[in-house]
Amino acid sequence: MKTSAFEAYHSHLQRAAQILRLSKEDIARLREPDRSIIKTLVVERENGEKVSLPAYRVQFSNARGPYKGGIRFHPEAGLDEVKALSAEMAIKTAVVGIPFGGAKGGVGFDPKGYSKKEIEKVARAYVRAFAEDIGPDKDIPAPDVYTNPEIMQWMRDEYEKVIGRPAPAAFTGKPVEAGGSEGRDTATADGAIFVLEAYLKKKGLMDSTTKRVAIQGFGNAGFNAARVLRNLGYTIVAVSDSKGGVHKPSGLDPEEVNRVKEEGRSITELYCKGSVCDAKKLSDDHANVITGEDIFGISCDIFIPAALGGVITGENAARVEASVILEIANGPTTPEADAILEERGIVVIPDVLANAGGVAVSYFEWLQNKKGEVWSKEEVRKRLKETMEHAFGEVFARAEKEKVSLRDAAYAIAFGKLLAAPLGKK
Ligand code: GLU
Repeated sequence: MKTSAFEAYHSHLQRAAQILRLSKEDIARLREPDRSIIKTLVVERENGEKVSLPAYRVQFSNARGPYKGGIRFHPEAGLDEVKALSAEMAIKTAVVGIPFGGAKGGVGFDPKGYSKKEIEKVARAYVRAFAEDIGPDKDIPAPDVYTNPEIMQWMRDEYEKVIGRPAPAAFTGKPVEAGGSEGRDTATADGAIFVLEAYLKKKGLMDSTTKRVAIQGFGNAGFNAARVLRNLGYTIVAVSDSKGGVHKPSGLDPEEVNRVKEEGRSITELYCKGSVCDAKKLSDDHANVITGEDIFGISCDIFIPAALGGVITGENAARVEASVILEIANGPTTPEADAILEERGIVVIPDVLANAGGVAVSYFEWLQNKKGEVWSKEEVRKRLKETMEHAFGEVFARAEKEKVSLRDAAYAIAFGKLLAAPLGKK
């Protein structure tokens, strides 16, 4: 049976507990969230039909500061997954040393089948349902899978209507013109690349290694990572989305891929319309169209899962042909896959470090809102770089010292900080 996301968290906890020699009591403290809140949102669709959608907010820990974490709109968002993601948030905020705890939210529906007006209704209904549970000093949501700055702006607006006063710091990831921070939209990808380059430098691979990158998932984070990496001289040899992908060893242009996606089309449509492909263009470009599963076996140096969790599994880990996996998605590698990758000497730069740039800049946004300040893009970028490089340095050093993986080191650091916090011993 496949390990669930929350079981995967427990597996990470067990491994870190051995490194830290944690007592049974401490392990018990770290096993479950403080609170799981489940509501039903009733939303009227444009055709007059009323739908009931399951909605979640899981507050894992506020031992180090207010609960913090995104809200995802996804048909598979369920309690187990949201619990796991809330725990991961508590770990990441500790790894990058920002004074927040961990939480996560979700609504179980497929936003792709909903109009913009309907999505706005879901967003506002979510805030009304959880208004008592969230707030700028209590629990601060942000975007996640299939939610975005515009949705955060609706949520902030709805929250302010409920409480009757301005509360810009109640949500992060807002549009810049509506109290958001410069650099938040690209922060997850930027942070991941700062960490990747810190790793390559540390290993002396910065100039010696070829830099062929394959990216699974081409949403906000996947696209931004592709764009920045290409500008830095990396070659994007393959990208995929939920419907399939394209492999082009000489390098894809992320902007071109994004144009196709923005038109609501699949990446494969760079070369194909339905099942009919442009054979001449494919041969001229030495490219081929691949399935969503093929991306895992593409020959590359850096493999980036940038979409959903649980995609690198016990089944496909043996096919991965990269030397480094940079986890931009949350929870992309199952514990079974981790064991196989470790055995094969493939280094995994774990999500709780690699993708923590998003929440780091969320913290900067929250600070700016609280202090009434506006930081420049350069300022945000400089602070993000420092934050990520510092966190990487700590994780790398711990991994060397304990002779463990970067993931185990990151979890050990985070659990140590959580238990040391005054509220960590509840
Ligand atoms: N959803 C993002 C994550 O998983 C960002 C969370 C936040 O900014 O609070 O890290």
